[in-house]
Amino acid sequence: MITDRSYVEIHLDRLRDNLRELKRYLRCGQEFMQIVKADAYGHGAYEVALVAISEGAVYLGVANCEEGKLLRLQGIKHPILILSPILENEIEEIILHDLSVSVSSVQMLKRLHEVCLNTNKRLTIHIKIDTGMKRSGALPHEFNTILENLVETSSIYVEGVFSHYAASEADDDLSNEQAKKLHNLIADHASQFRYIHIANSSAIFKHNPQYCNLLRFGILSYGVYTNQKQRMLLNLKPVMTFKSTLSQIKQYCAGEGIGYNHTFKSTKNGFYGILPVGYADGYDFLLSNQAQVELQNTLCPVIGRISMDMTSIDLGVSPDSQVGDQAILLGGETDATRAETLSKLYSGSAYEILCQIGRRAKRYYIDKGSLVSTAPLSRREFVSSDFSNSKLNKIIESAISHRLQNDEIGELIYKEILRSFFYHKDLDISYRRNFVHNIAFTTKSSDGDYYHTRTDLTFDKTLQSNYFIVACATSDKHLSKYFMRKDVEYRWLMDDKIRLDENSFKIASAKINDLELVTEVIHKDSALEIRCSHPELASLVGKECKFYLETETFYPSNSHQLSVFITELTRGAKISFSYPKEMGHVEAVRLFSGQNRDPKLTQNGSSVSLETGSEEWIFPLSGIVFAY
Ligand SMILES: *Cc1c(COP(=O)(O)O)cnc(C)c1O
Repeated sequence: MITDRSYVEIHLDRLRDNLRELKRYLRCGQEFMQIVKADAYGHGAYEVALVAISEGAVYLGVANCEEGKLLRLQGIKHPILILSPILENEIEEIILHDLSVSVSSVQMLKRLHEVCLNTNKRLTIHIKIDTGMKRSGALPHEFNTILENLVETSSIYVEGVFSHYAASEADDDLSNEQAKKLHNLIADHASQFRYIHIANSSAIFKHNPQYCNLLRFGILSYGVYTNQKQRMLLNLKPVMTFKSTLSQIKQYCAGEGIGYNHTFKSTKNGFYGILPVGYADGYDFLLSNQAQVELQNTLCPVIGRISMDMTSIDLGVSPDSQVGDQAILLGGETDATRAETLSKLYSGSAYEILCQIGRRAKRYYIDKGSLVSTAPLSRREFVSSDFSNSKLNKIIESAISHRLQNDEIGELIYKEILRSFFYHKDLDISYRRNFVHNIAFTTKSSDGDYYHTRTDLTFDKTLQSNYFIVACATSDKHLSKYFMRKDVEYRWLMDDKIRLDENSFKIASAKINDLELVTEVIHKDSALEIRCSHPELASLVGKECKFYLETETFYPSNSHQLSVFITELTRGAKISFSYPKEMGHVEAVRLFSGQNRDPKLTQNGSSVSLETGSEEWIFPLSGIVFAY
């Protein structure tokens, strides 16, 4: 049994049942969007999204960019629509996370179009029409202007058009009028839109017009009715249950006041209990002297003022409860603890109660009676960009310690391994992706001592500065200093019998993206440094670029081995060595550390190649030796 002071249980099975109830009312061909804004009305957007998706939700609805981004960071790939108006400074982030946008104005449409053009990206939108809610949304007469402007905006995909009822649970005339307005507006364009939607969950019975093929499920799916009649049509169970633990039992005497300002005074003697829960936990202050709590199948009135962290409940004249008993404040067996009932006690909103309770209490996710996951007390989900580097370092270190259940080993791993990446290198760990390196021995030199050798190398990496260096040296010692330098992207060890110059080591091509770089050869003692640069590189610094490098050189034929090392943190690599047939058999020895110690080798009569999965991490100083 859970013994926290106060906490919420989120019953995922009830959510599933509620969705199935609601789905009974969908017409053939109608789909639904699950509204998970405000952390799914305090239930946990991620967990709710998973259940809704498994129940067939085709879309998720969130309030803003942040909420959408969080779901993306948690791994949700499903379409997500931002329901509220967005801000211009959020556009790039929205595109980055592939979120769909509600558009209410021509200005925003144009702005979106501009950003799409600049970034060469596409964006999905739903046009939002204000049919009577008088909140966000374009007014009907603006709809045509928006459509006209869309003609030239090929970067924008208009997937839907929608509106929002102002009172679908209460005002039939207004809802009918709104539905009609949207219908008239889109009548000539309906086939352009994949989704047309107006109904929130309360609208599912009476205000789900024929022309709509998508409904947006919110409050009803969380098990809260918005009017009495719905109870005859649907059996909904509250998904959220808010519980606390009886922490103390005391006696009161007739005439004594209880709590702040003594707003409760008993007329007789009796017992009362203290619950370690208050308005800071979302149990609304206005429920003071109003609400009832379920305790051992009896209803106990809240007496006196609810304070920040404590609430008193009346246990009557002869209580049979004990300290440690569980009290249910919301979402229990009786109507008294339904959100609908509680919010009515102070003319509040059931939506708000769910949100405010879900904000603080620790969450336990329960499915068919078993605990499936938990969410911590703090309602802010972890987004690493919200933290300073020093805080992040601390979090990483303590997370490792916690995971290993051992502070010492945690600290050691953090210090020895991770700190060298995150700390000493000033956090700019850049790594290479899609590393492809081909080395080919083509023909022998006329004296037979060397193979003409061609290499080509491609990888993706964030460009660090407006140039990079390729280094070639005739001894390990001279080459070694180039391993320390961050501006060196490629190193080649030359046989010391060869005179090192532009003829023995030549760059046939060096490119970044499609930009052919200018090369400048600098002669050093026993080394050649080739500086590759281009004036236009300055604008690419900090961006991920495709590097391409092709060299022509020589390799001694009596060396009998050639090694290729990966010197940087790399994700996904392919290395191949091809050679003349007469060289006979070539043995390949892999020395890999990282996710996969034995990347796949493919060999035929004239080449050997090695390939890791494209997402696999390879640690520096992995490599392969070809022996011939
Ligand atoms: C919140 C919201 C909903 C869900 O409404 P419920 O009444 O909770 O079903 C639907 N559509 C939009 C645009 C919303 O903002």
